[in-house]
Amino acid sequence: MRRLLRVLALAGAAAAWSAPPTTPPTSPPPIRVAITVDDLPRHGPEAPGQGRLALHRALLEALGRHHVPRVYGFVNSGRAEPGDRAALEAWVAAGNPLGNHTAHHPSLGAVGIEAYLADVDAGEPLLAELLGPGQERVWKVFRYPYLWQGTDVPSRLALRKSLLERHYRIAEVTIDFEDWAYNRPYVRCLARGDVDGVAALEATFLDAAVSQLRWADDTLRRLAGRSVPHVLLLHAGAFDAHILDRLLTEYEKAGVRWIPLDEALQDPVYQREPDPPRSWRAELPVQMVRSRQIQGFPFPPSAGPLLERTCLGASERPAPAEP
Ligand SMILES: [Zn+2]
Repeated sequence: MRRLLRVLALAGAAAAWSAPPTTPPTSPPPIRVAITVDDLPRHGPEAPGQGRLALHRALLEALGRHHVPRVYGFVNSGRAEPGDRAALEAWVAAGNPLGNHTAHHPSLGAVGIEAYLADVDAGEPLLAELLGPGQERVWKVFRYPYLWQGTDVPSRLALRKSLLERHYRIAEVTIDFEDWAYNRPYVRCLARGDVDGVAALEATFLDAAVSQLRWADDTLRRLAGRSVPHVLLLHAGAFDAHILDRLLTEYEKAGVRWIPLDEALQDPVYQREPDPPRSWRAELPVQMVRSRQIQGFPFPPSAGPLLERTCLGASERPAPAEP
């Protein structure tokens, strides 16, 4: 045995002696990310002096500056006012598609499947009109409001079956860092002229965004055993528009390469149902961790409690939040 060990040690030494010089480390492969923007024409309160067209233009400028291809905007057509048409048309004119996010953003648990599906159908005419004839394949992409896919296993499966029968593709999300929750405190900070409050929101937002990117990528890579293209959830809100350029820069520094949603959804991970489904309202890696009931993937902390307090007077109470 001792002799064998000695032979192995000598062989190892010889291998080390003859090994080629170490090559410099290559950069890791890019993290592929498709951006999606929910709640068009607008999520949350309006920043002073910024109408919906200006909001869309701010988002589109940042996306254009970073050459992000074909960004899906998910529309709540029942919330669109007559004056919002120009904002939605600007989105399409910039080469970006639109998808269905229901007409009125119903809560599935509150309205039930029949009313929910009726609201899906009610969301369609405006999309068909904005995208033009023959574009049904483009706009029949569905994003669940609140990412809520069901209230139990049967309702989840029934809803998915009904959407597929309507020829929808389902736009899962893999990266969700609660961007929507910054819009309300941001507008509060603007109203108070609180520059420090805005700076705190910016720092917290960018930190949460990068942490969640790394968590989602690491988790999916370990669960799938390979690199998986991501779908990032953002919202058409005032703070999103304010910080989008910086967010895109931070993601690019973290190794992100932008891809269209159509390309991401071709990955097999989006074709199969996490099984057994035990989570009704979450992004895909969270659903997978919960459905497999595995340990070792602690979820990053939420900034929600901090955001509720930012730029809020002692006598004021937080308004109800809505993703
Ligand atoms: Zn939404």
